[in-house]
Amino acid sequence: MTIDSATSYLVPPAPEPRDGAIGVEVANITKHFGDFTALDKVSIRVAPGTVHALLGENGAGKSTLVKCIMGYYYPDSGGIIVGDSQRFIRSPREAHLLGLGMVYQHFTLIPGMTVLENLVMARAEVPKIINWREERNNLLEFLDTVPFDVRLDIPASALAVGEKQKVEILKQLYLNSRFLILDEPTSVLTPQEADEILGLVREMARDGSITALIITHKFSEVTAFADEVTVLRRGQVVGSGGVADLNPEDLARMMIGDDELTVTKPRAETKAGAVKLELQALSADNDSGHAAIRGVDLKVHIGEIVGIAGVSGNGQSELVQVIAGQRIATGGGVHVHGEPYGASRKESERHKLFCLPEEPLANACVAEMSVAENMAFRTFDRPGFAAGGWWLKRGAFQKRAGELIARYNIKTPGPDASISQLSGGNIQRTVLARELSGDVEILIAANPCFGLDFSAVADIHAQLMEVRNRGAAVLLVSEDLDELLELSDRIVVMFEGELVYESKIDDADRTTIGYHMAGHSMLEYRNNSRST
Ligand code: ADP
Ligand code: MG
Repeated sequence: MTIDSATSYLVPPAPEPRDGAIGVEVANITKHFGDFTALDKVSIRVAPGTVHALLGENGAGKSTLVKCIMGYYYPDSGGIIVGDSQRFIRSPREAHLLGLGMVYQHFTLIPGMTVLENLVMARAEVPKIINWREERNNLLEFLDTVPFDVRLDIPASALAVGEKQKVEILKQLYLNSRFLILDEPTSVLTPQEADEILGLVREMARDGSITALIITHKFSEVTAFADEVTVLRRGQVVGSGGVADLNPEDLARMMIGDDELTVTKPRAETKAGAVKLELQALSADNDSGHAAIRGVDLKVHIGEIVGIAGVSGNGQSELVQVIAGQRIATGGGVHVHGEPYGASRKESERHKLFCLPEEPLANACVAEMSVAENMAFRTFDRPGFAAGGWWLKRGAFQKRAGELIARYNIKTPGPDASISQLSGGNIQRTVLARELSGDVEILIAANPCFGLDFSAVADIHAQLMEVRNRGAAVLLVSEDLDELLELSDRIVVMFEGELVYESKIDDADRTTIGYHMAGHSMLEYRNNSRST
């Protein structure tokens, strides 16, 4: 389809205010970027008054699809039907006139203006002289018609993240959008905020005032809030249906393909064995010199994953840094295989102790080097590693890299591609291939899946479990409680630098762990000791 400005595709006048949800149908859309097919004959029907989830891995084409609906991109072929008529949407402004609105992943509010001012200024036709009293009354009247509750008179900059997201949605509703697209709306929200906002969206869809198309890669949101789901993979629709008829495993298989779904092997029975890693009354300060870890005692045994749960900033990163030799302990110490451990390279090699960091590109790779080179050189920071020998053994390295790429599911154009071109999930897979393919006795993993997409997380979980089943002692620090519950044999909770709770996995209970993560037990303890 080419755009011919001489042809007048007349956009109809804006729909009457609040005349209810509208449906949108995408019919057989194809979109190329150069030689690359981002959308391949995609069709989706979103019925009025429903919440429809658009699910897919990074790069599946979700954002491209909704940008076609919103008039940011023109499809090369296929059409878009809004309500009953096919429309050719040439710009976001035209999309708005048709009642289509989109809430972006990033915030668009002007920080210095109040919520009221933001909402008024967002209107397409703002009069030159604003009658604020009238605007305020209009807005209050409007607010009566929606289930949202926001404070109008505080600057947008003073809002919590969840409130900002609410105002963004409210802005779209105020602009009379009745088909609302939300692009990963909950990625920056706490679980409570996400539940509240998606709950409100669903409520408005239920009462017929809006239709919502929500982009997500979280199954839990699909199951809890959507009526229907369409799954995209590599630009194609690979499945769709009513949410009630699909379970998370069906969705996972659609999302990443049967052959590529890594299922974590179950925790193998391992006999209670020797202590491999022991922290004894370990203490350390944070960067500003305050106590970050206070007298931590912990043992990790052969064939065991010990998970450290906690809200970020309770000393977990300092703990990992001390074990990795990047921070000096102020008291106590680390023992490995019963010996004091100073984290020198010699010691880590002798004890086969490895670390998997968060943000692997920054913390465990040389961005300028290739995938194969990053796999070969665990010791890349040693001087002279690239001298002579590397070139002589190049063939062997290439072959080895090829094997690891296949075994660890690394998606790369080839072993010689620069590592920085890879997605986050594939960079972490590369680091994993390098660190875990040899003998591992002790593994420290700090939020190893943070920010990675579903199939990478599945691969990494499977690898961690395999290392454990081979007899390694694993210390897994994570802010993701589901991850800890899936993988750990034992979970400890860290709060304000202390281990405040411990549970075997068979007795582990989310609510109790959450209670300790929030520090309730400590606060009670302090209150009680104060009152006696
Ligand atoms: P998703 O939102 O599902 O993560 P996107 O729709 O953003 O995926 O991207 C789908 C594919 O299209 C990706 O491979 C991406 O690199 C490519 N792509 C997206 N936008 C452009 C563009 N403007 N130019 C070239 N390629 C693009
Ligand atoms: Mg996207």
